Amino acid sequence: MPGDVLVLVEQVDGKVDSITLQLLAAGRHLADHLKVNLVALASGHRLDGVGAALQSHGMDKIVLVESPALASAAGEVQARVIAEVARPMEPRFVLVGYSLTGMELTPAIATILEINALTNCVNVEIRDGAVIVTRPVFDSTMHAQVALDGNDSAVIALQKGSFKAIESSTKQATIESVSVDVAAIPARSKVLAISDEPAGDVDITKAEIVVSVGRGIGTEEKISIIAELAEALGGVLACSRPVVDVGWLPRERQVGASGRTVTPKVYLACGISGAIQHLTGMRDSHRIIAINKDPNAPIFGVAHIGVVGDLFEIVPALTRAAKEARAGRD
Ligand code: FAD
Repeated sequence: MPGDVLVLVEQVDGKVDSITLQLLAAGRHLADHLKVNLVALASGHRLDGVGAALQSHGMDKIVLVESPALASAAGEVQARVIAEVARPMEPRFVLVGYSLTGMELTPAIATILEINALTNCVNVEIRDGAVIVTRPVFDSTMHAQVALDGNDSAVIALQKGSFKAIESSTKQATIESVSVDVAAIPARSKVLAISDEPAGDVDITKAEIVVSVGRGIGTEEKISIIAELAEALGGVLACSRPVVDVGWLPRERQVGASGRTVTPKVYLACGISGAIQHLTGMRDSHRIIAINKDPNAPIFGVAHIGVVGDLFEIVPALTRAAKEARAGRD
């Protein structure tokens, strides 16, 4: 039906990423207001389990595009496949996760379908009959609200954590398989190999106490101050993404949307502002303690205990107290 809402399923070898259920929640909300169908589209290789995994999660139909050639297809080919399957549906909105894959596919799909592309979005809602999309701007210090006019169509890339996952229901979506001649699609680049990231020496997802350091630490040498506290508490050292991006800590220590999700008994955030991509990876921790010199830092919105102050004064004092407490127990 023209005007449907289409959700792009994010999956690897048939294992559906959690962002898909969040996109389905956003999609259901839009489809209900627009009185259209919600359709999920999965393209790739080995999609055997995808239909069954998603069937009861609120959509009206699942379209599967399965081909071994898609396992190593470059982004331009994947975008072409998705757009060609989507085109006859004339979707009003295509919802995509703002992941590494989504970042690559969103502008390409929108260009082929000749519709708008809105990336890095944190909300999509209907207000007074208009579809309003919210995007962070100026390094997340402000948010822009973009109203889509009348019948404007768009590919909307939503950040992980923007919506709660849709609940399952008794309603079962229909499953349709579509075949596409992937080999016939011209490609200017090809994927030579896909390799797993090397396993690191620590698994932060298993730790009961996670002490996490952010850009507020300032320099690489000072990370040892936070590492010392982690050790004194018997926890592990983790970090926000900028700390990884500049090479101060390895990727396996990163918490957040493009890192690991942790749910420890205690999560201690030191010099971390609390951007949505970070919160996505730690907000379900049992007890969150945040140290930040900015009283308006968003991390305080999720913290159970917030300490407004300079981490270079507070952290060494905590380390001393933890060491003394340990010495007293030994
Ligand atoms: P900042 O935002 O720069 O915050 C530093 C904080 O330190 C500030 O609040 C400041 O007040 C405080 N501070 C400074 N000095 C002191 C001091 N002396 N004492 C106490 N406090 C101090 N980010 C992630 O963390 N994980 C992800 O997985 C992730 N994935 C992303 C994926 C995408 C697609 C995108 C677009 C972004 C992603 N990001 C991720 C980045 C995210 O948007 C933020 O930029 C990042 O989380 C900010 O890290 P930060 O809080 O360490 O740094």
